[in-house]
Order: sequence, then C-alpha cells, then structure tokens
Amino acid sequence: MTASRAGWAAARQAMAAAARPAGRKTASLTTVRVRSLPAWTTTQTTLTPEQYDVLRRKGTEPPFTGKYVYNKDSGMYRCAACGADLFRSDTKFESDSGWPSFTEPAVAESVETHEDRSHGMVRTEVTCRRCGGHLGHVFTDGPGPNGLRYCINSCSLEFDPESG
Ligand SMILES: [Zn+2]
Repeated sequence: MTASRAGWAAARQAMAAAARPAGRKTASLTTVRVRSLPAWTTTQTTLTPEQYDVLRRKGTEPPFTGKYVYNKDSGMYRCAACGADLFRSDTKFESDSGWPSFTEPAVAESVETHEDRSHGMVRTEVTCRRCGGHLGHVFTDGPGPNGLRYCINSCSLEFDPESG
C-alpha cells in the first residue's frame, strides 16, 4: 500500500515536471528558425567576425563605417554569405543615415521582411531569402515611388562591380 502511494506520488511529480516546460512559451521556442540552419552550413564564403555578427547574430555595424556607404560604382550588391543578387547600384541613394540605402531589391523575391520588436522599437527586418542572413531594416521614408528605404549593413553585402 505504502509502496503504491509513493509510486503514484512520484508519477504525479514526473507528470507535473513534464508539463511545466511545455505549458510555458519561451522566446527561444517562438523565434527558432530551422530553415536558416542548413543554408548556413552550406555557406561557402568565409565570414569575417563583423560579417558574422551582422548576418548571423543580427548585429548592426556602426554608421558611416561600412565600406559601401559612399560607394557610387555601378554593379550588383550580393549577399556576403551566400552570393544571392540583392541590390543594384542604380537603386542606391544618399540617405545620410550612415548605411548603404536602396529604394528596392534587385529582385523582389530575393529578400524577406520580418517584424522586429527588438531594442524597444518596431521595425521591419530585411533578410536574405536564400540563406536567412540578416541584412538590415526597411523604412517607409524612402525617396522612390514606393517610398521605401532599405537600410542595409555594408557587412552583409559583397559588391560586384560591372565589368566593361
Ligand atoms: Zn544570403
């Protein structure tokens, strides 16, 4: 009798313990993004620590420090992690924000946007669709017809100058 009561108590304790983590929604559970993991592992480009911090840990490079802030050459800005075509030089404009700014992606499907509520702000994060890498944010105060300003870290980009 005593043994079975103790067994029941132990079983109830085990059930309660098992139920606890499942009933509680943690941030890590809701923000986990499995689809970006395989792409990262197949990334061929070696990322610098700065690129790693921005692309994989959603960091932001200090303003006016990126190598493409003032770049006016013609060509394609590709994802520094996976090489996908992201932005064309003819959509780049001087925003005075300190980061390379574009009115639109080279191909609409090449980027994804996500609501970002970090740092006490509501912003729209821009990521590379192919590899999930963090690129920057998009704002609605752009000069183009669509009114968008893609504010992108130089770190996330690799510029490919137009030949000839
Ligand atoms: Zn990419």
